[in-house]
Amino acid sequence: MEEFVGFCSECGKPIHCLNSFLNGVDNKENGTLHCFTCYNNNDPKAIINDEQQI
Ligand SMILES: [Zn+2]
Repeated sequence: MEEFVGFCSECGKPIHCLNSFLNGVDNKENGTLHCFTCYNNNDPKAIINDEQQI
């Protein structure tokens, strides 16, 4: 079972759902999709700072 989910919003790489395992990261808060490569390139501290501003 392989279901196409969408494209990475950083690099445009197609992301699929394989046997209910998504080979990327789906951010439901802002509706973006990232492959693991781009997701890991993002600085987690930036996300924490965003949360603290709210
Ligand atoms: Zn990517």
